[in-house]
Amino acid sequence: MTPVNILIVDDRPENIIALEALLKRDDVRLFTTTSPNEALKLAWENQIAIALIDVQMPEMDGFELAEMLKSNPRTRNILVIFVTAISKEAKYVVKGLGAGAVDYLYKPLDPYITAAKVDAFIQLARSTEEIKQKNEELQNYATVVKNSADIVCAIDAKTFRIKSINPSVEKILGYKPEEMLNTSIADRVIESDKPFFRRRLGEIVKDSLNFAVIEFQVETFNKTVIWAESRVSYRNGTLFMNISDVSPQKSYQQQLIKSKEASDIARKAKESFLANMSHELRTPINGILGITNLLRKTEVDEQQMSLLNLLEVSSQSLLGVVNDVLDISKIEAGKFSIVRAPANLHEILKSVYGLLKFKADEQNIEFMLEVAPDVPVNIMVDSLRLNQVLMNLLSNAIKFTKKGYVKLSVKVLERKSEDVKLEFCVSDSGIGIAKDNLDRIFDSFEQAKDDTTLKYGGTGLGLAIVKKLTELKGGELLVSSEVDKGSEFRFINWYTIAAKPVEKTVSRPSEKLLPFNNISVLVAEDNTVNQFMISKLLKDWNAVVDIVDNGRKVLTKLQENDYDIILMDTHMPEMDGYEAARSIRIDFAEPKRSIPIISLSAATLDHEQQEAIAAGMNDVLSKPFQPYQLHEKISRLVKNKSLKKPV
Ligand code: ADP
Repeated sequence: MTPVNILIVDDRPENIIALEALLKRDDVRLFTTTSPNEALKLAWENQIAIALIDVQMPEMDGFELAEMLKSNPRTRNILVIFVTAISKEAKYVVKGLGAGAVDYLYKPLDPYITAAKVDAFIQLARSTEEIKQKNEELQNYATVVKNSADIVCAIDAKTFRIKSINPSVEKILGYKPEEMLNTSIADRVIESDKPFFRRRLGEIVKDSLNFAVIEFQVETFNKTVIWAESRVSYRNGTLFMNISDVSPQKSYQQQLIKSKEASDIARKAKESFLANMSHELRTPINGILGITNLLRKTEVDEQQMSLLNLLEVSSQSLLGVVNDVLDISKIEAGKFSIVRAPANLHEILKSVYGLLKFKADEQNIEFMLEVAPDVPVNIMVDSLRLNQVLMNLLSNAIKFTKKGYVKLSVKVLERKSEDVKLEFCVSDSGIGIAKDNLDRIFDSFEQAKDDTTLKYGGTGLGLAIVKKLTELKGGELLVSSEVDKGSEFRFINWYTIAAKPVEKTVSRPSEKLLPFNNISVLVAEDNTVNQFMISKLLKDWNAVVDIVDNGRKVLTKLQENDYDIILMDTHMPEMDGYEAARSIRIDFAEPKRSIPIISLSAATLDHEQQEAIAAGMNDVLSKPFQPYQLHEKISRLVKNKSLKKPV
């Protein structure tokens, strides 16, 4: 607690000593003097709260001194108590009070009365000081409120009438503060917002909330409408509102909503473009690959066979590019999902190694596979995608290495009960990548150098896909490289150790697929090349084939004839495969209603495949497919017609 300063003025030192003895305490600081002039100086220099002044002094009497203190603004508020021995006659008392004194102490001093009186005045001095401080604070707040850019107002909680409001109202609403006083704040709110506004203020009052935010629209003096956001608090029958004009933010927000809607439309357009492109591109490639296959089975000489091989390689690489473009777009549209299932990791690694070994041999480079002994055999992994990542990294390593080696190594970095953190590392002694280009190579369609396509081919999509695939399940892909020394790509992720995976029942492509026992197949396919190819395949397998080119014709044909199975393209003119399948499952009578249907579509998007199943189709085979895959699916679905023994 800051001490209260008390000044004692008496021409006799012994009186000063006596008073000092009476008043000495921790919360008081005493200033003493025998000279009234010195007293004026002390009062001027120190924040004196109380002055005990002797009335009779030779230099200047107490009344004069008090008057001088009162005449100076700096000392005006000092509480003056006269200490006097002279008569208690009324005229002196009046004179003293007239000079600004608040009380008298009479000599000889009674210690109890003196202490009690001075105590009361100390309390008074303290309260006065507090009031002064509070006043200052209030004045500061008043300045802040007056200069605030927001409207600040106090509202009667019952009538919503404005009790006080700051000048900002003129800038924001165009009304002068005095025009607003005593009017209802609700009158300024636009008609459609009024019920909500009143209800909300009512709730704030009812719940005595000391903080709430409401948003409403207000009509200005010029009849324009602005958006207002108000922070409201309620206390003692008054609502305090701080109202900001948030129209600029609102219009920005609305713009954002509009552009979000526009981008949603664009995203949907991109997705449907993707679905269509998937179909349109994969369908003809399917035709080319299928026909190449069929041609192989005819009599061809050696030169023709090598041309067919080239045709197949080119088609496969075209299919690879199409698949890459689709993959990257699917990932970017958030439509790509990684599905982990138990798989034999060592088998995957060996098969990738086996597939690429011949390429490395062709280039005379050493190709090594190193799997640390503690790497678990079976883990939960999306084997298709792991394959894709490894094939991409290893193909790049082989492609960009002219001599030396390419190595795939796998090791365990960490282990936590059933989980292992694995590191897959693909390193090579190839051309390497310059530091400046290291970031760029992970962007779609980017290559380390501008002449890469010319020298090595490629689209610049592989690493973009690899990076996104490795990161989809929380993994990371790291690269380090040195020009002319080699590169090292590592990807690290957690995997759960799995039980032995269930052996797949899919029959492996055998040299000879057994013919069917005269089953009849209805094929719905609008692409003539594919029509020819599928019909040729089926006829080779001893099936009777009917072909139509849209869903409506499927329904007509099925009404007229009996079939064992339908192979249904999904995207067809007039009526698509989904609708035709739905109609069969609902409008036909048994047994036709349950006829097996395989969706044979170039669609690769998961949701399209799900849609085929939802439409009632039994299975899905995406084009291009291998003949044995179609054979296996037909055999499984058409059980009552047994396969013929090989001839
Ligand atoms: P692509 O191989 O189809 O060009 P990628 O996205 O797979 O596309 O690779 C991007 C670029 O990164 C390549 O063009 C090449 O410049 C560089 N790159 C990738 N892997 C290696 C590697 N092992 N050694 C040297 N450069 C590489």
